[in-house]
Amino acid sequence: MSKTDWIQQELDALKEQGLYNYIRTIGSPQGAWLIVDGRRVLNFCSNNYLGLANHPALVAAAKRSLDEMGVGPAAVRSIAGTTTLHVELEKRLAAFKGVEAALTFQSGFNANLATIPALVGKEDVIFSDRLNHASIIDGCRLSGAKIIAYEHNDVHSLEEHIRANLSQYRRGLIVTDGVFSMDGDIAPLPAICEIAQKYDLLLMVDDAHGEGVLGRGGRGIVDHFGLHGKVDVEVGTLSKAFGVVGGVVAGKSVIVEWLRQRGRPFLFSSAMTIPDVAACLTALELLEQSTELVDRLWANAHYFKAEMKRLGFDIGSSETPITPVMLGEAPLAQQFSRELLEAGVFAMAIGYPTVPRGKARIRVMLSAVHTRDDLDQGLEAFQTVGRKLGVIS
Ligand SMILES: *Cc1c(COP(=O)(O)O)cnc(C)c1O
Repeated sequence: MSKTDWIQQELDALKEQGLYNYIRTIGSPQGAWLIVDGRRVLNFCSNNYLGLANHPALVAAAKRSLDEMGVGPAAVRSIAGTTTLHVELEKRLAAFKGVEAALTFQSGFNANLATIPALVGKEDVIFSDRLNHASIIDGCRLSGAKIIAYEHNDVHSLEEHIRANLSQYRRGLIVTDGVFSMDGDIAPLPAICEIAQKYDLLLMVDDAHGEGVLGRGGRGIVDHFGLHGKVDVEVGTLSKAFGVVGGVVAGKSVIVEWLRQRGRPFLFSSAMTIPDVAACLTALELLEQSTELVDRLWANAHYFKAEMKRLGFDIGSSETPITPVMLGEAPLAQQFSRELLEAGVFAMAIGYPTVPRGKARIRVMLSAVHTRDDLDQGLEAFQTVGRKLGVIS
């Protein structure tokens, strides 16, 4: 027996259950088509909603910034890692989102780990949607606050838990995903806002999949619902629709100022790199100039989802371009994904623990870069594999 035998056993068990992550290697830039493990296939699983990940304007901006400012920040933000580009990006993000201030992080994951423990601690309580993203869950755990999970998107459950528990704690925070990344449904933010006001609770929304997707020209979930000034803090990512990598916290200036003092990933992990920041600035410019990309994303999503329904697939209750194709058991989802790849379509299976057991699925991510022809080819592959595996008739 060696002391790592248990790890091998766990890995073998994952493989048997169809839950092992087989990681594909991409040999091309992001786009509607990718080279995956050496083969050119239709891309249905990137978060590259607007096609910005390989947009010529972003690539050019990143190159220019490399020549002017170099590659690395060489420090955390609070020491020597805050460049003029970082400050400019934060000003522009705040203006774009219509909030007082914004602060960038190395990733959306880090933005959550920074924000939640800065807002609540051991004497406090967090009311968290049961299906919140892993980075919210980890941020909640790091804070040391009592965590109470309410039923998914259920404001009655939220209010019941608040009534039963709030009085035992110093402060409370409500935290929810804006768009739930595995199902594509949207949090009932107006009702949650009312509850936050009624009980005087801090309200935080993680808009990772709403940034660049929801609201006017991709301004996010707060804009989508017209709730400007009513959400204390929005976490977002620059790694999805923005096409780069990074995180952002946007909201009241007092909260942003506090995060500069107490956000641990801000204080103890180096700043976003120069080319990432420059590319994000250009992404913002493109979003401000035109809604064309956002409009095309939504047109593609409406078309694809309508056709998938017509073919007889269960595509859940998504309200966004995220399109889950519900398959149930994880091995079936993995087989479906393998067969799709054989048919030239790259769409990964997602199983436990990312989604609950028995709710395995293929998650199709649509993008503004898909042409109608791309979508039709994808639909044909889904139809062929769906029939072969008895998922549709
Ligand atoms: C993707 C995602 C994140 C993490 O963002 P990164 O920038 O990739 O770290 C955080 N929250 C939610 C809801 C997400 O979907």
